[in-house]
Parts: sequence; C-alpha cells; structure tokens
Amino acid sequence: MLDALADIGRSARTGGYRRDAWSPADLELREWFRQEAGRRGLDLDEDRNGNLWAWWRPLRSPNLPGVVTGSHLDSVRDGGAFDGPLGVASAFLAVDLLRERGVEPERPLGVVCFSDEEGARFGVPCVGSRLLTGALDPDRARRLTDDEGDTLAEVLERAGRRPGDLGADPETLAGVGVFVELHIEQGRALSEPVGVAEAIWPHGRWRFDFHGEANHAGTTALADRDDPMLAYARAVLAARAAAERHDALATFGKVRVEPGSANAVPSRVTAWLDARGADEERVRRLVAELAADGAEAVEVACESWTPEVVFDRSLRDRVAAAVASTVDAAALGSTGPADPEAAGPGRSMSTAGCSGSAGVAAVPTGAGHDAGVLAVAGVPSAMLFVRNPTGVSHSPREFAESADCHAGVVALAAVLEDLCRA
Ligand SMILES: [Zn+2]
Repeated sequence: MLDALADIGRSARTGGYRRDAWSPADLELREWFRQEAGRRGLDLDEDRNGNLWAWWRPLRSPNLPGVVTGSHLDSVRDGGAFDGPLGVASAFLAVDLLRERGVEPERPLGVVCFSDEEGARFGVPCVGSRLLTGALDPDRARRLTDDEGDTLAEVLERAGRRPGDLGADPETLAGVGVFVELHIEQGRALSEPVGVAEAIWPHGRWRFDFHGEANHAGTTALADRDDPMLAYARAVLAARAAAERHDALATFGKVRVEPGSANAVPSRVTAWLDARGADEERVRRLVAELAADGAEAVEVACESWTPEVVFDRSLRDRVAAAVASTVDAAALGSTGPADPEAAGPGRSMSTAGCSGSAGVAAVPTGAGHDAGVLAVAGVPSAMLFVRNPTGVSHSPREFAESADCHAGVVALAAVLEDLCRA
C-alpha cells in the first residue's frame, strides 16, 4: 500500500517527502484515502475540520461510540515514507484481516486520517485533532499563516472547504469510544517488532524574534552594527547547553532572516525552538533561561504547548495483551518487565527504559501525536509502535522492515478485534 504513495509529494532533490497540509500532494493523499475507504465499502465522512473518517458500521449497533484507528498522511518537510502513512495503511489492512477472519464488530470501527498533524506549513502541530477536541481556537487556526503569507482560511477556501466551519466538534468526538494509533517508532527504544506507548513527553514550540537594524554589509563598521544574527547564534548554542543541563531536548530547526540578503546586516531574525523533556518543569525552566539570556532584544512567544500524556494504564495493558497474543512466545523471551528505576532519571528513552506490559515493550516517546491530543481530551487512547532499526525519523532515511510492518498490522488487528467486542 505504501508503494502506491511512493511518488506523491516526493522531492527529486532530497528524496524526502513534502506533504504540507492542503498542498496538491496532501489533496492527492486524501483522495487515495477516499478510494481505499470506497474499495472496502466503508462510509466516508470529512468532518468540519478536514479530518477524514472511514466507518465500518455494524447493522445492529451503528451508533455506539466506535473503535477508531489511523494516523495522518501529511509530512514534515523532507520527511520519510512511514511517519503517518504507516498508521493509515495498517488501519485499512487490519480491517481487511478482520474481514478475512469473519470478525463482525459489535461497535463501529473507524479509520481516521487527521489533518495537518505535523504542522509543517502553519507551524502548529495536530491542527485537525486539536480543532476537533477544542484545544485549538478556530479564530487562531484561521489566522495561521504559511511562508507564502497565505492564511489557513484562504488555503482551505481554495481547497473547496469552509473555514467558517472550523472548531470543536463534540458530535464527531463522541463517536470515538477509543482510539489506537499505530506509528513508526521515532527513536531506537524498541528492540522487538512492535511495542506500546507508555507516555508522550511534554513539548512545545516557541517563536523567538531577535530585533536589530538592517544595514550595508560593506560600509557599516562592526562597532556600529546592531546585528540580531549574533543574538540568534548565541541562543542556538545556549539552547544546546541548557538542554544538556536539564537533560532535555532543544532544537532550533527553522529560521527566517529579514531582509535575507547576503550583503545586508539583518534587521530581524525569527527562529523557532522546539523543546521537550521528561517533565514539564524542566522544559519550562529551559525555555525561561533562554528567553532571559538576551532579554533586551528578543521576544519569545509560545506557539504551542502539549502537556505530558500518560496513556491510560488499563487500556495499555489490554492492548499489550492483544499484541502479545500475536507474537511468537520465543521472540518475547528477551523482554521481561524491566526495573524502570534501573534506567536512571532522564534516560527513559534508551532501550533500557522499556517496562513490560504483558511482556510487550512499553516505550515513552518525545514525539507528539494525535493520540496524545485525544488522550488529553479524555478519549481512552493507546499507541502501537513499529520498530525503527536506525531510529532515524523526520528524514528521507526513515525506515521500517516489511516484516515488522506486517507484525504491526497483525498486532493492530488483534487489538481492534478485542476492542470491538461491545
Ligand atoms: Zn506522525
């Protein structure tokens, strides 16, 4: 199934995917989703926030809160083939497997594709799921602006949608009784083909504006310059040092320079900091220290914040038990429940951090997901991770073995079959 998507939005130069929300590539992927739903006779809905839902509704109980699985199809800039699409393709294949086995769900089973999960275009991640749950203000969403200066409202209108409809959608949300997202693991925390998520680290994005004065690069003496690039450069180094100090993660991954000429001292540098850590306190402290560093010339604005998500323990255990039922007992031999303390503080993302749940590895992750947004909104949610042998993600080199992807589908089908019993 992923082969069918291999050419959509792929950059010939980098080999990576550029599937910005509502770009032609994204629209093509959404069309693919519609076709896959249609081929399976699933009912397709697009909700008011552009999320796509494909429903398999049992005749006897079509309106019970459903069991929903899926992920997203958009990508980061120059992303890989698996982050997002693996969860959507696996969801459709799990439906196929259940049908092959003659399973009749007692509750509706839904496959979802959330809009704009990565936030590559407008800077805010999980826009579709956050709007759905009411975590993102629709006025703010409509005003989000991409690098071309187009607002989300304009972009949606051009794609034939109604931006006025954006906003919390309790009716759609009530249809989600439980959500399970399958995703490629984005580090190297998993030594078995499939694991379950334990928690999502708290994380946020901050915009740093460094102010200065534009001037001629050839005629302005060094002493006379007010060059914001220097403050930015110091901030990048300070972010790295602060992250090390706090045993957290901090990344300046996007920067915009005005006026952006090679022969001009910049007037302004805008850069985006992504910061994450095992607890909120250390992330907040890290950002506060950076903001205080160059206080006179920098403005810092928080553009998004996601609190820590600890996935529901009883659901996780149930999911893990279903996964375990699909795994060869021999393969499980290596993963007894580990002592979580043994890993040491802040080392929880190493392989040593896995604590067993029904003998299936439970891993924390530094990556945000729609499942986290739904969990925060009170929807019982869980995640399955498929092993990533190199740990590389958000890169064209992102990779998972076919055998592991297949194990993921089989595990997901077992989880859905269990949860679909009313
Ligand atoms: Zn993803």
